Amino acid sequence: MSNALFSSYLSQVSEANLKQLKELSIDWALSHGAIIRPPADIALANNSSVIHAPLALFPSPFPKKAFEHGLLLQPLFNLLFHRLSKDEDFIKEIMNESDYLLHLPPGANEPKILQVEYNTIASSFSSLSSLATDMHRYLLKATNYFDSSPIIKEESLPQNEALDRLAKGIAKAHELYGSQNAIVIMIVQPKERNAFDQRWIEYKLFENHNIRMIRKTMAEIGQEGRLDPETKALYIDGKEISVSYFRSAYSPADFPTQKEWDTRLLIERSRSIKCPTVTYQLVGSKKVQQILANPSVLERYITNKSDLQNLRSCFAGLYPLDASPEGEAAVKLALKHPEQYVMKPQREGGGNNVYSTDIPKFISELSLSKRSTYILMDLIQPPLSRNFLLRQGELIEGEMVSELGIFGVCIGTSNDFENDVLVNEIAGHLLRTKTRETNEGGVASGFSVIDSPLLI
Ligand code: ADP
Ligand code: MG
Ligand code: MG
Repeated sequence: MSNALFSSYLSQVSEANLKQLKELSIDWALSHGAIIRPPADIALANNSSVIHAPLALFPSPFPKKAFEHGLLLQPLFNLLFHRLSKDEDFIKEIMNESDYLLHLPPGANEPKILQVEYNTIASSFSSLSSLATDMHRYLLKATNYFDSSPIIKEESLPQNEALDRLAKGIAKAHELYGSQNAIVIMIVQPKERNAFDQRWIEYKLFENHNIRMIRKTMAEIGQEGRLDPETKALYIDGKEISVSYFRSAYSPADFPTQKEWDTRLLIERSRSIKCPTVTYQLVGSKKVQQILANPSVLERYITNKSDLQNLRSCFAGLYPLDASPEGEAAVKLALKHPEQYVMKPQREGGGNNVYSTDIPKFISELSLSKRSTYILMDLIQPPLSRNFLLRQGELIEGEMVSELGIFGVCIGTSNDFENDVLVNEIAGHLLRTKTRETNEGGVASGFSVIDSPLLI
């Protein structure tokens, strides 16, 4: 089955059926917790209202071979990033997510996955993406709209265990910390609208593993946190913390005052297991991704030939924009063929990149030291497929691009050189879909919706 076949199939779904699918999706999402908080202007008081999460009405076609390649890569990336961050003498725990776009340039016939980036902090939507998979399965089974032309088949919708797997990863870290009375903390942003994606992890941790998790902002930890001077155990509001799981502390807005920096240092110095540690957060930067693409850097961390080949196969062209000869050459390339590149700063959360014809003017206005903080990347050209995006009760139809995320759990220590990786697992997937006109991919930043893959 091709994307074209899928698109023509979707164009045959009647208006009446679309309307019913939309209503079924909204109710399923609201009933099953595929929800977010509404924007402030339409919210009820006291956080007492929700809306459905942005979702794709249909699963999007994704090549099975490329999907499986993404799964195969995740344990290799877990290992690579663990080794990268290993110069620290403390136990570390991490949940990673690696994002890929299919690359299908004109004239090529088989798409392959290229890595967009690797996230080592606050990877979100594990819970909502499991729910999106469940919703697509429900629509398939509960309606007969797909019977006449069975392009969407149950066996083509892969299981997505992200919801359970992330909680299981935290539970394992908690167990390794080894204190009966300790609890887990999730460090959150104030006024988080994606709170239910996070709450699902908390409830799974409690229901499946009988472990308590509390939510606190950096400011609250600044008030309530302290270290035991002897043991370096972290206490918040008098309770010992086994795992410090960050869903905050990655954006400048998370550090409004010196107090937040002090708080980050307090957590880092503690013996709680950090997801991630500061070094892990740093090696997840786009600059490190660019350096890894340089010849013979990967070889310092990975020795197996076929692993090396596999990792390299998903690297797009990446270039520095600093004062080095490579950097100056990259600037020339970007000015000559801007339509082939994207410029990325060291930021997270979407909405920060500079694309294509915007690049020359942007570069010309940057000082050299500012320019060095960006990297240049080949623009990936993903195949398009049709879908309907469901956002705040409305359907948006169009040609879409999907980005695949693979979650991984890696728990390790640097105390023991031989047995440094204790857990290295794939932990489910996430498909985010956006209209082709949109450059950026963040769900929270309002650019894309949560989808599930239809393996073809
Ligand atoms: P962030 O950390 O802000 O999520 P990303 O590197 O994921 O940064 O970039 C945000 C979005 O920009 C991606 O989800 C993707 O849609 C788009 N993007 C990033 N790099 C590329 C690329 N090389 N080619 C095409 N699109 C890209
Ligand atoms: Mg990111
Ligand atoms: Mg991203």
